[in-house]
This record gives sequence, C-alpha cells and structure tokens, in this order.
Amino acid sequence: MSDTLPLHWADAVAQELLPLRTQHLISTGITPSGDYHVGHLREVLTAEGVYRALRDQGADCRLNYVADTMDPLRRVYTFLNPAVYHEHVGKPLCDVPCPCGDHASYAEHFLAPFLAAMQTLGVQLEVLLAHETYRTGKLDGQILQALQHTETIKRILHEETGKIEKDDWSPFNALCAACGRLAGTRVTGFDATAKTVSYTCACGHSATAPVSQAGKLTWRVDWPARWQALGVTVEPFGKDHASRGGSYDTGKRIVRDVFGGEPPYPVPYEWIALKGQGDMSSSKGNLVSIFNLAQTIPPEVVRYMIFRVKPMRSISFDPGLPLLNLVDEYDDVSARTRDQRAAELARLEGMPPLGVPFKHLVNLVQITEGDTDKLCTILQRHHLPVPGQDVLRSRIAYAQYWLQHFSPADIRLRLHATLPAQVADLSVPQRQALGLLATRLQPDMDGDTIHALVYALAEEVALPAKALFEAIYIALLDQPRGPRVGWFLSALEHAFVHTRLHAAAALEG
Ligand SMILES: [Zn+2]
Ligand SMILES: [Zn+2]
Repeated sequence: MSDTLPLHWADAVAQELLPLRTQHLISTGITPSGDYHVGHLREVLTAEGVYRALRDQGADCRLNYVADTMDPLRRVYTFLNPAVYHEHVGKPLCDVPCPCGDHASYAEHFLAPFLAAMQTLGVQLEVLLAHETYRTGKLDGQILQALQHTETIKRILHEETGKIEKDDWSPFNALCAACGRLAGTRVTGFDATAKTVSYTCACGHSATAPVSQAGKLTWRVDWPARWQALGVTVEPFGKDHASRGGSYDTGKRIVRDVFGGEPPYPVPYEWIALKGQGDMSSSKGNLVSIFNLAQTIPPEVVRYMIFRVKPMRSISFDPGLPLLNLVDEYDDVSARTRDQRAAELARLEGMPPLGVPFKHLVNLVQITEGDTDKLCTILQRHHLPVPGQDVLRSRIAYAQYWLQHFSPADIRLRLHATLPAQVADLSVPQRQALGLLATRLQPDMDGDTIHALVYALAEEVALPAKALFEAIYIALLDQPRGPRVGWFLSALEHAFVHTRLHAAAALEG
C-alpha cells in the first residue's frame, strides 16, 4: 500500500472496526431456495474482503455463513415439479425433499454446490444451518425475550415501517408438528419458565412444544436475535435491508431494546446486474450460477471482480468479452488499470498469473483445439513464457468453457484442415496476393513483420488491405474475419500456411 493511493474499501472498513474491538465475527447469510448465482457472490466476498483486511491489520476474526434453512418454501418455483412440490409449500427448506434425490433435503441440495464453490474461491466459512441453531436451543433465550416483548417489537416495526400488525401478531412463526408448515399457524401462548410455545394451525392441529422445536422467529426479529446469540460484529447485506425502515433499521432497535445488545457494523452492498438485463434475480431468470462462473474464470479473478468495486457501487456483469478483459486486468499482463490492493486481497495460493493474455489464449486454444503441446510450441515461437502444465491445462479449461458458454460469435474460429470451398469465390487479385504472400512469408517472421508484409502486398497488387485480410481468413478459417492477421499467421506453422496459401492461389475459378 502506498500513501498516495486511496485506501481500499475493505481496509477502510477494517480501520473503522479496529478501534471498536479487536475480535470480530463477520456474518453472512443466504436462503438456499434455489441455485446460488453471481449476485450472491457479493454477500460472501464482501465479507471475505473485510475479513482479510481485518486479519492483515492484526485483528482476531472469524467469518461465518448462516444458511437460512428454516425459511419456508415460498412457492413452487418454475424449476420444480408441481406434482411433487405443491404439498411442501410453507414447510422449512430443511424439511422439504431434495429435487435430485441425492441430498438430505431441499436446502442441502442447493447448499452443497454453493459450499463447494466457496472452497474453490478460497473462502473459509464457518457454516451454520439455521434449523440446527434453532433446534439445539441456541436461540431459546431470544425467542422467549421476543415473545415477552411482543408489544415493544410491534411498536418498533410500526414506528420504523408505518405498518400496524394485527392484535394476534407474534414475532414467532410456529411450525405445525402435524402438517409440517410454518404458514397457517398462530401462536396462542408461551411459558417462559417451561420454555414452551402453544399454537394452533390451519390444518386443525394445536399443541404446546419446546421453543427450540416450535418454529422460527419472523425475519425482522430473527436477524437481530442471531446477532445477539452468535455475537455478530460485522455484517454485509443487500441494499434492500439497508433502506430507510428496512430490516437493518428495525433490527438495530430490536437488538438494543429487546435483546440488550448492539447491532453489527453494517456493510451494505449494491446488486450485481447482468449486462443489458438488469439486476440478477431468481424471479427474472437472468442468472449466471456461481458454478458456471467458477468454470469460466480462475477463482482469483472472481474475487477480484468483487473486491475492485466499492460495495455500494453497482457491478454490471458481462460474461462476454469484458470478462476476458477482467482476467487480463487481474493477471496484469496488458492492463495498467489494475487495482493492486484488490488483486492482493484476491490472491490465492498456488495460482500464479499465466503471463499470456487470456484473450490471446482463447485464440490459441481454438487454433490448436486445446492441444497443450501445440499450444506450448506457439508460446515458444512467440517468445512468451511457457507455464507449468497444470496452470496451462486449467487455463485452457477456462478458455474452453468461456468459448462454449459466453463467447460472442465473432470470437469463435476453427482452423480448417482442408482448403475451404469458399476460396473459389475469392477474386483473382485476392488469390494472386495469397500466392505472393506464400512465397514471401519466412519461417521465423514475427507478427509485426508479417503485418507489415500483408499491408505492403495489398498495396502492390492494388487491393484494399481489408480484402486481403478476408482472403487470408477464408483460406485458413473459412470465415471472413479472425484474430489480428500478423499475430495469427505467426502463431501457425510456417509449412502449413505456406502450403495452404499456395493451394488457394492455385485454385481455378
Ligand atoms: Zn439433490
Ligand atoms: Zn398444521
């Protein structure tokens, strides 16, 4: 870090936190109701940025993730089979069956790949399952306090949100032991000494159950109860919770007035929008899953994507060319705009930069069809560093995944093994120029030399340069465009190019 650079946002948060205390618990939480998408990354990585910054400044800190497994299944989402899931609406996600049959519950089904992706991204989380937190009695004290102070909570909610709750409103949602639903129940009483809650359910059942087994606190009370029970000191959350009268405002007052604690330091963040399609959200269906992203770019770059932007600034996520440029910005191969501190926070063990621009690699992977030996030969020919096989292979896999899923059509190319039929449609001067190029190309010419040669040739045969480029691309790729011509020809084997250009020039037509 240098004095002249503005402080990175995570370091700025850490600097505010350290005078408050030296031990911190940073908490995150997401409901496992569907596939975790790129938008969710901001929750966990914002926390991770603060975690690293705090640690770098000598704090003793922990980072947890609370999976809201007690949240009910709100509706039959489009990706669910209505015949199976209709009857499970209103049940906690931990009690709903998994869609594939391989996981213990619906919640586990979505949680497992998310946690695997967090491992890949180098995020070390203490994972808490909300239903276990409830069912092991960790929130008993807060539940009883909330029930005892129902009127205080109602007043706070009214003052902050303007909403007036009904007379029989309770901060606790009972879970019916008969039908298994949170929806449709009503709390009818509680016993603070016996630690029980009584309820009736729309299904006709009524019962008295231990608070730990009886259900969950409603969201606006659950959150401050969790802060207090777990000792949360820092928490990032989406801007919706941060709005005036939002759940952070009500949570702040509830934790002080009902639980006798202090709210965590807030780190609100903006959404991640999918370029041209607005904020990413499950209901809009405009999602790129974390799994897809982790297959497309190296984990450090995923981290860098979040760290380089202040939490309250929006991120427009474009998985096309801008994503490639981001990889290069992180690698610092050609970019000068790299945010050093963000890159430092993003760094993980065992993943050195490739030293070859990713965009460049995408072309090489296509020219060589992913053959590492051929690729290494080209890197040597271009006097580029040849990375270790593992690094190279992993980068090739990213490039291939990106090409398959996110690349614009005009980036895709394939070297034609035989002379493309389209060559017959080239003009006579175009084919003459190809013949001249074949004779003048020398085995060890570099990209710049070839580039100059192509321009000189076009002028010599009175052909617009563009028409000669087209002829070259058609002869080799069977399409009128391709990568920068000098670079492209210098990447290919001389003998192959020589033979191909001669064949194109010799074609009658
Ligand atoms: Zn499953
Ligand atoms: Zn019921």
